[in-house]
Amino acid sequence: MISIVIPAYNEEDGVAELYRRIVEASPAWQEEFEILIVDDGSRDRTVAICEEIGATDTRLKVISLSRNFGHQAAVSAGLMHAKGNIVTVMDADLQDPPEELLPFIEKIRDGWDVVYAIRTKRKENIFKRISYWAYYRILKRLATLDIPLDSGDFCVMRGEVVDTMNRLPERNRFVRGLRSWVGFRQTGMPYEREARFAGEPKYNFRRLLKLASDGIFNFSYRPLQFIMHAGLVLAGFCVFAAMFIVIQYLTNWTVIGFNPRDARGWTSIMITVLALAAVNLVCLGILGEYIGRLFEEVKHRPTWIVKRRINMPDNL
Ligand code: UDP
Ligand code: MG
Repeated sequence: MISIVIPAYNEEDGVAELYRRIVEASPAWQEEFEILIVDDGSRDRTVAICEEIGATDTRLKVISLSRNFGHQAAVSAGLMHAKGNIVTVMDADLQDPPEELLPFIEKIRDGWDVVYAIRTKRKENIFKRISYWAYYRILKRLATLDIPLDSGDFCVMRGEVVDTMNRLPERNRFVRGLRSWVGFRQTGMPYEREARFAGEPKYNFRRLLKLASDGIFNFSYRPLQFIMHAGLVLAGFCVFAAMFIVIQYLTNWTVIGFNPRDARGWTSIMITVLALAAVNLVCLGILGEYIGRLFEEVKHRPTWIVKRRINMPDNL
């Protein structure tokens, strides 16, 4: 069975069409399916419309969250409830067209565990496109794992992969990051992201920023390590600068018209400031290193994930 997980927040104008398009595309898959709409605290008629459809077609299921928990939480809730041995995540606004699913499903049948979509064209404004483009490249630089470029949440996964993701206990979930983190055999598939079918984007700038920083900070503590490295470099610089100032004082050396003896106390103050700055930066770096390690631990992610056992019982 295929489970189609769809987070929806105030998507009353799109859900009926979404349902229609999924049903229309479904014969090609030659598989049973369930549509799992996760209503993320919608305040419009999204749930009512789903209920109406659900009354005539039990393949449409709805999980209604008690309030708006955000897209990533909604996707996670949907994955928790998905029963299928093939699971797909798509948006409710038809930006990820159901007609495109077939080649993804075929790849899973070919033996891939995760087939994620790579967006080739975005029908969005230039500012958004540039930001996304830059973001994914920064994320790749910073994150300690290989998060594929330009791939969103739209994907098809084998049920085992979803079970594994469900077992990761962290609360602040960046789904596409967790998906790469769990590993297994993954491949990308290019597709053109459509424009929104109806309604307004539910991500505003603040939410996008939150998503973007979740991606970076949940998967790396390189920014903290950066403090450490910058601290060491600056500390080195401070030591050299202090030495220079002492030499300048002792040799009574005038540099660009300035002689340290012109201002009393210059040498001692400069040395104090530089030494303290160096110590400070290195100490911050050390703290950062510990915070980073704490952070890794509190996420409670498993240290490894077993893909397959041979000649061994599965429940070890
Ligand atoms: N969404 C959600 N909760 C939110 C925001 C968005 O469930 O708080 C859903 C939304 O209904 C849509 C999907 O997440 O199905 C993607 O949202 P949107 O289209 O606004 O994002 P974009 O396509 O601009 O990245
Ligand atoms: Mg959208």
